[in-house]
Amino acid sequence: MQTVNRLDPLRNAVDALRRSGPLALIPTMGSLHDGHLSLVAAAREAVAKLGVPEGGHVAVSIFVNPLQFGANEDLAAYPRDLARDSALLEGAGVDLLWAPTVDVMYPAGFAANISVGGIGEGLCGAARPGHFDGVATVVAKLFQQVRPDIALFGEKDWQQLAVIRRMARDLDFTAPHADAILGVPTMREADGLAMSSRNAYLRVDERARAGALPAAMRACIAAIADGMGAEQACEALAQALLASGFASVDYAELRDADTLGVPGAGPARLLVAARIGRARLIDNMAVPASIK
Ligand code: AMP
Repeated sequence: MQTVNRLDPLRNAVDALRRSGPLALIPTMGSLHDGHLSLVAAAREAVAKLGVPEGGHVAVSIFVNPLQFGANEDLAAYPRDLARDSALLEGAGVDLLWAPTVDVMYPAGFAANISVGGIGEGLCGAARPGHFDGVATVVAKLFQQVRPDIALFGEKDWQQLAVIRRMARDLDFTAPHADAILGVPTMREADGLAMSSRNAYLRVDERARAGALPAAMRACIAAIADGMGAEQACEALAQALLASGFASVDYAELRDADTLGVPGAGPARLLVAARIGRARLIDNMAVPASIK
């Protein structure tokens, strides 16, 4: 695995890889866990399917992006361990690690901003003003820098995936094309909690209680399947979380899975953000059209 942290060597590395096969990119903020590694496995499979005899290549970026953190958020505390991450990626067969510093990504005078309205405005966009502008801006830069044939993101961050697809469509991205932005199912711990770098913020007792989040979401979906109205079921979900020791619930809502608007005839998604201890946890689950 080649590791680069400046733009010139990145360009050389990317040019060399692209000459011998398709390239997949997985943007991350590091502090890697099995969820991230499942994206690497999915990327290897996806580039291999592109039909080039030599196979394809996988690049991973690690960059804790200051633009996507609010003033009172956890930018300084966000866990960082590049040596450990690098060993994990090497072991997973990644070809290129792109690990720029903040001054490489945002040189003095940097002023551009990409804002994806509508889909980026509610839910986490409302709870974290500016968050998705920061995400869209850095992902647009990563796409320009690496010019991947495909890019992979976790369904764990469902709204983020929707924002990035919208951006790629609206701005006519071709590397990657919007249709080549792939979502990968959420990896969970044994008790159902979605894997997340932020789970490290939880004390032992908080971690034990955090399993209530996926359990309450499954109960909510079962209640909707049994005929309860979505609003009432989501309210019960929020109450269950507070009763289980969550400090607050930013939102618990049923939305259309694609537009994130009011649920229609198609598949829906249950999306939740709730705070426990120092962590703000997000999760989402499919709600098939057949049960609504
Ligand atoms: P992050 O480092 O948290 O920005 O995540 C990098 C990528 O990994 C994003 O596309 C996330 O959606 C994805 N990801 C994070 N956690 C998981 C998980 N538990 N399962 C699958 N993908 C995940």
